[in-house]
Amino acid sequence: MQKIQMVDLFHQYQHIQSEIDKKLIEVVQSSAFINGPEVKSFQSELEDYLDVKHVIPCANGTDALQIALMALDLQPGDEVITANFTFAATVEVIDLLKLKSVLVDVNPDDFTIDTQAIENAITDKTKAIIPVHLFGQCANMDTIMDIAVRHNLYVVEDTAQAIGSDFTFADGTVRKAGTMGHIGTTSFFPSKNLGCYGDGGAIFTNDDDLAYRMRGIVNHGMYERYYHDEVGVNSRLDSLQAAVLRIKLPHLNDYNAKRRTAANFYDTAFKNHPKIQTPFRREDSKHVFHQYTLKVAEKRNELQQFLSEKGIPAMIYYPVPLHKQKAYDHGEYRDEQFPVTMELIDQVISLPMHTELTDEQLHYITESIKEFYHD
Ligand SMILES: *Cc1c(COP(=O)(O)O)cnc(C)c1O
Repeated sequence: MQKIQMVDLFHQYQHIQSEIDKKLIEVVQSSAFINGPEVKSFQSELEDYLDVKHVIPCANGTDALQIALMALDLQPGDEVITANFTFAATVEVIDLLKLKSVLVDVNPDDFTIDTQAIENAITDKTKAIIPVHLFGQCANMDTIMDIAVRHNLYVVEDTAQAIGSDFTFADGTVRKAGTMGHIGTTSFFPSKNLGCYGDGGAIFTNDDDLAYRMRGIVNHGMYERYYHDEVGVNSRLDSLQAAVLRIKLPHLNDYNAKRRTAANFYDTAFKNHPKIQTPFRREDSKHVFHQYTLKVAEKRNELQQFLSEKGIPAMIYYPVPLHKQKAYDHGEYRDEQFPVTMELIDQVISLPMHTELTDEQLHYITESIKEFYHD
């Protein structure tokens, strides 16, 4: 059996190796490293895939979030609501821009932002909500968009973990993750569902004015060459990464299907297990399993250790909630405000999840976990 990895990028590369190698050499020989034709083609191919008017490529998923917030003309002290149980990048950019991050709890089943908690956190300073489509499944966008309309708020979807996921609204409309709010952001970090071979990111919007604004911000606030109308940033997707992404984008649906196949294997193996809760699947969102995250009732850390000794990597996403991180603990939060998050940090464990898992590996992983819980 092949060594089990949390994410297996090498074997995925092997399937497309000849195409990748040829293309990378081509880009190097063209020497169009920055803003070359590969970037423009990728941009328009991703617009088609997502059925969104504008894709603005940028350097990484964190920049994408920052640029999105910069484009909304928020003022210092304006409040942005996001989930407490997520990767720190989401809240990092809020604080970096001197806005006020307001953390709220998540749902116990799908781990995405609790919409009732959003409602409760809204004040007259609230300007935006950042739902995170955590682990590959969309947050409840029906309710979130409804809240946003009622309170006149912007919605920036953090789609770093859910590219390719769909959401079906109550009226039957189906939209891709990242194209439902005012702005969507994603990351092409190598381990994401659509990953490049370095850093990369993108911003999506259907709003022409926001798109114009963000294209300027990513390029030093420059709307006309060497005229800088505002303080911007330098955030580019380079041509080599765009070339890799152009080759991988046509495989994205297949990659996500492979992740779902592995998830189905895990689901079946742990069905009705008294100590293990398999991931909840929302009816309105297609899960693309960026992570396959179990909730276990007991001995989570011992399980991780046991698996590690058997050569099975497993990760805790996330062990510390944002309100307890030194950088974001401003002394205003109490653990009791986040009963679900506080429980999840002790119970979640993410199993190996990628496009190259074999039945043999999946069998070994699931049997080892069952062995640990003695059945
Ligand atoms: C990965 C990730 C990011 C950041 O993306 P980078 O490209 O690493 O900057 C932001 N939000 C979430 C939820 C992520 O998982």
